[in-house]
Amino acid sequence: MKFTVKSRGDDFSNTLQQRILQYLLDFGLSHDEKEPEMVITVGGDGTFLQAFHEYCNRLEDTAFVGIHTGHLGFYADWVPDEVEKLVIHIAKTPYQIVEYPLLEVVIRTNNEEIPPERHLALNECTIKSLDGSLVSNVEIKGDTFEVFRGDGLCISTPSGSTAYNKALGGAILHPSLASIQIAEMASINNRVYRTVGSPLVLPQHHTCLLKPMNDKEVQVTIDHFTLSHSRVKSIQCRVAEEKIRFARFRPFPFWKRVKESFIGG
Ligand code: NAP
Ligand code: MN
Repeated sequence: MKFTVKSRGDDFSNTLQQRILQYLLDFGLSHDEKEPEMVITVGGDGTFLQAFHEYCNRLEDTAFVGIHTGHLGFYADWVPDEVEKLVIHIAKTPYQIVEYPLLEVVIRTNNEEIPPERHLALNECTIKSLDGSLVSNVEIKGDTFEVFRGDGLCISTPSGSTAYNKALGGAILHPSLASIQIAEMASINNRVYRTVGSPLVLPQHHTCLLKPMNDKEVQVTIDHFTLSHSRVKSIQCRVAEEKIRFARFRPFPFWKRVKESFIGG
């Protein structure tokens, strides 16, 4: 099997990365940074997100597993003490694959010559105005739902629902629900401006189309990276056809990870 190991870049993670690399080479596996079948990350969820984007053009052939070194580690759910156990699992035992849904984002500009930009997000896409409030038409399944006015909107995946979405008061969704969630950031609500106010959960095939209404520059984020756009016509969000594949070597149910990450014990 071909594998690669990605590190956050701090000394501790780098040392662990080298140890894992050597162990797996000793077990006869081959190191392939270009076309790995397994991507092992050492760091935190940030490191995991970076690795996901590095290999998101070959998701069907890639399984991910993460180790967290001092960070939260919602995706990266192995600890450094378990590394020996983990490498033996990787080298010797057939593993299960668990798939989680992703968010597809298509950005279209007013310039016809620029082709639409397509992105996949593991956590979320956010849209904010760089100058004043964001004013955006929100369409769901082809019908106008509301005009949003406020700081911005966050459209998240179920596994991303514990990240930015959670800070916005969104619900935590189990990743077996192929869906996306729209959460508001400080909407303006009064006699003149009205939004629904509650987070919305859309099933597969229900597309959400955001059309910024003022001619201002908007900032779009996809997971950890920021895109700036001056002439956005629309941002289309829906559940992606692609899924992320996790290599599972032991049961570690989602709700248990939620409990350990946010309640403790
Ligand atoms: P960061 O600022 O270091 O990440 C913020 C925190 O979110 C870190 O503790 C990170 O864990 C954690 N995290 C990432 N994905 C998560 C998930 N699916 N469930 C629970 N926690 C998660 O930046 P980053 O590490 O590059 O992560 C980018 C993410 O930060 C974005 O996708 C967004 O969700 C989140 N974010 C949150 C807020 C907010 O809550 N107000 C604002 C901006 C961005 P690690 O420490 O293990 O990396
Ligand atoms: Mn981080």
